[in-house]
Amino acid sequence: MRYSRFFAPTLRDDPADADVVSHRLLLRAGYIRRVTSGVYDFLPLGLRVLRKIEAIVREEMERAGALELLMPMVQPAELWQQSGRWEKYGPELLRFRDRHNHPSCLGPTHEEVICDLVGRELRSYKQLPMTLYQIQAKFRDEIRPRFGLMRGREFVMKDAYSFHADDDCLRREYRNMFAAYERIFTRLGLRFRAVEADTGSIGGRDSHEFHVLADSGEDLIAHCASCDYAANVEKAQAARVKAHGEDAPCAEVATPGLSSVEDVAAFLDVSPALLLKTLVYRVRFEDGRTEIVAACLRGDDQLQPVKLQQALDALEVVPAGEDEIASVGGVAGFVGPIGLRCRVLVDASLADAYGLVAGANKVNTHLTGVNVARDVVDKTVVDLREAREGDRCVRCGGELSFSRGIEVGHVFALGTCYTEPMDVRFQAQDGSRKVATMGCYGIGISRLVAAIVEQCHDQAGIAWPVQVAPFQVALISMGRGEQVERVAEQLYAQLGATGIEVLWDDRAERPGVKFKDAELIGIPIQLVVGARTVADGEVELGRRGEPRRRCPIASAVAEVEALLEAGAAPA
Ligand code: ATP
Ligand code: MG
Repeated sequence: MRYSRFFAPTLRDDPADADVVSHRLLLRAGYIRRVTSGVYDFLPLGLRVLRKIEAIVREEMERAGALELLMPMVQPAELWQQSGRWEKYGPELLRFRDRHNHPSCLGPTHEEVICDLVGRELRSYKQLPMTLYQIQAKFRDEIRPRFGLMRGREFVMKDAYSFHADDDCLRREYRNMFAAYERIFTRLGLRFRAVEADTGSIGGRDSHEFHVLADSGEDLIAHCASCDYAANVEKAQAARVKAHGEDAPCAEVATPGLSSVEDVAAFLDVSPALLLKTLVYRVRFEDGRTEIVAACLRGDDQLQPVKLQQALDALEVVPAGEDEIASVGGVAGFVGPIGLRCRVLVDASLADAYGLVAGANKVNTHLTGVNVARDVVDKTVVDLREAREGDRCVRCGGELSFSRGIEVGHVFALGTCYTEPMDVRFQAQDGSRKVATMGCYGIGISRLVAAIVEQCHDQAGIAWPVQVAPFQVALISMGRGEQVERVAEQLYAQLGATGIEVLWDDRAERPGVKFKDAELIGIPIQLVVGARTVADGEVELGRRGEPRRRCPIASAVAEVEALLEAGAAPA
């Protein structure tokens, strides 16, 4: 490709509203342009990278035995009513009516459509197992689209769905897909980690997320330094030393104007670990019902909201207001679990703790000597706290570390939560009708473009791994001399003939501009044809970001091939 005919509008300055590196560089280097909030054009450079990622994903999906199909973006409401998600999915599902007043939505995911398809075609166990996948645009009306391709409203996903006669077969496919994902992210040159995950609105049982490790990641992952335990903090558990105070009867103590953990602990001269803090939430359920619920934690812990939501099987949990707290007998700032007229959930670390300080549900008053087992009569004990630095691994007691991650893939062993309501049944070997069991497996293809840039960049721009770079070689001709033109033209043709993708910067720009653009765009190899070197029968060659060396024109193509074979990995 000749740069003079190419469309890669680069920007000299950082765009104003881009706050992560990948967003900034993808805009600056002319890979993407914003159309509207969370919706982007893929320019020719961006599309080339997207297609390369897709190709690797396709190869590994085919190798794993999955079959590609393509489902529509527009989906009828009926299917979502059948699965029960029309009510459940919330405002991320973009709903609309067509000209016949037919309620429809834009697909954020395709469990309904695929279950409808497979349910109608499936007859016998002999057709199972079956894994189907597609690479297609999804739409989710995200509340906070941000970071460019990282969290868009329209984005490209690979989604695969597997159907099985029994759970053993599902487990085998889950492992098979897990292994395919490891191959994909390894081939993409990424540092990543598979972690245990919450199942979210998709539902189901087992689930792992694949995270690209990067400081800009929106997720926090906990991983053990000594064993292979790793989990999203939304789910991560931890082992820790229990805290106990003195075994004493409950007594009221005046705490005038003191309601924060720190203030009360300091005033009573106890460790914050001995405070029992009670948080009150308004909880909304799938069927529209709401309820006020209290959650108790150690004073030095934080609540992990996803754990609370999961424990209650709720759609949403929101901190309750003062009136709502009062409606269940609490006093804001002095809430405690004893005497509250609502469900009380207690974090597992407090289950048999005693000698604690808790709010007395009375202004300016706390209780001391609280014994959870004795005094908090009606309670549910669950894991609610967020794991944090200093915690120990639940499996082996090793030290837990924390890193930020970008979720690029997610595998779920769903079981029958969709196939049952969507009526995906088959005739089993013994002649009975059985519900198929199901798995689903997603990869954020467009998010990967950004995730790779987050890991592969430097001051000058993007440093693509060669396997996903939009072009492998930047051919830079300097000056307009006839000899330069001729040699560049000849190398361009020779490289093209060997199947190497070349962006030939044939523009009438200064060399400095051309080098800057080549580095910004992130092409792994630079081949430079200048008047002086050509006169000596040589060109300059090197990896992006490394010093170039001279080589004879005649061996330039072979040298490029050797560099590519060696991986041309960015420094
Ligand atoms: P997240 O927690 O980041 O919102 P999710 O759990 O909703 O992700 P899934 O429903 O599992 O995501 O979708 C499969 C994959 O699609 C994710 O692993 C992610 O890589 C990608 N993805 C999800 N939402 C977006 C988005 N808004 N923009 C880009 N990619 C996305
Ligand atoms: Mg999401």
